Amino acid sequence: MSHPPRALQPETLAIHAGAEPDPATGAVAPPIHLSTTFRHGPAGESEAGYEYVRGANPGQDRLEAALAAIEGAPAALAFASGMAAIDHVFAEFPPGTHVLLPNDYYHGVRTLAREVLPARGITTQMVDQTDLDAVRAAITPATRMIWAETPSNPQCRISDLAALAQLAHAHGAILGVDSTFASPVLQQPIALGADIVMQSTTKYIAGHSDVLGGSLAFAQRDERYERISRRRYIQGAVLSPFNAWLTLRGIRTLPARMAWHCRNARAVAQFLAAHPAVECVHYPGLSSHPQHALAARQMRDFGGMLSVRILGGREAALAVAGKLRVFTNATSLGGVESLIEHRASVEGAHRVSPENLLRVSVGLEHPDDLLADLDQALD
Ligand SMILES: *Cc1c(COP(=O)(O)O)cnc(C)c1O
Repeated sequence: MSHPPRALQPETLAIHAGAEPDPATGAVAPPIHLSTTFRHGPAGESEAGYEYVRGANPGQDRLEAALAAIEGAPAALAFASGMAAIDHVFAEFPPGTHVLLPNDYYHGVRTLAREVLPARGITTQMVDQTDLDAVRAAITPATRMIWAETPSNPQCRISDLAALAQLAHAHGAILGVDSTFASPVLQQPIALGADIVMQSTTKYIAGHSDVLGGSLAFAQRDERYERISRRRYIQGAVLSPFNAWLTLRGIRTLPARMAWHCRNARAVAQFLAAHPAVECVHYPGLSSHPQHALAARQMRDFGGMLSVRILGGREAALAVAGKLRVFTNATSLGGVESLIEHRASVEGAHRVSPENLLRVSVGLEHPDDLLADLDQALD
């Protein structure tokens, strides 16, 4: 008598999803098929279901199987970048659509909302999504989507995904979630009611700061999924086979890396929060964080991202960033190396971040070395 297999844990899924040995050779590590085209019969009869790389290809199939598995979703699509994935979500909506955005979120989406969406007739409105009454009040008859980002970039605010999903659905809208800061290991928005979950796979999923990519996971393999897949094929926002291979390779160690990112970030957050040169630390794992209880409920752990406000304003923050040696001053996040960035400086003309805020992507170095580096820089 055989027992039905019990649901696999994330660590196991990340290693075994989309990982069948190559049927042609038995290779355990997946092959990279760089071919842009696949032989067919004289009347176009396909041999293995592949035709042209922009549509489907073996590496993309493996990656999407793995992405769907780790998101707990029936289907996922891989994109050339996180922004390409986001743009495909917004492209779903007709002119006249209203979308609710958070008031702290990824700068690229802010730019999309300012420079691209108005010409498509899509209006957006920012609202504090940690305040459900404010979200409810901002919904209009034209609202088709609540776009959430939690933890948010860069201030690590946490919004209640189950409650936002209920609100959206009660008004005939969908909930889309940018879950990049958490990764699929720490947060499962589909299980909480989200309709679409987006990841910049450039960050934790690929994990080594060497490949650009994005993904969408879908609560249902429905017409929306089919339309977005079709649009990707038509518009060509696909990953290259090599980038798909690197991204899939990243997934294999994602749960193991996330455990260390979380451990190190907790140590850095606690150190900074106790330092006299620090005004405050935004990290959902600290009990002082305003949504700490929600984060503890909604997330498996609190992640590797935090931001810190330095006493003394812009100059003091820049001085700290400039003195660090183990942390590198650079944008992006989720790689093995610790990065720090003065967000206001890189946001340029449309800066919104506080001038004394530094965003930190805590990497996988030994925590003692990270704390010693921060200690000398804050001195
Ligand atoms: C990086 C990032 C994006 C955009 O992804 P790209 O892969 O750079 O296009 C979107 N959201 C968040 C939270 C990000 O950190």
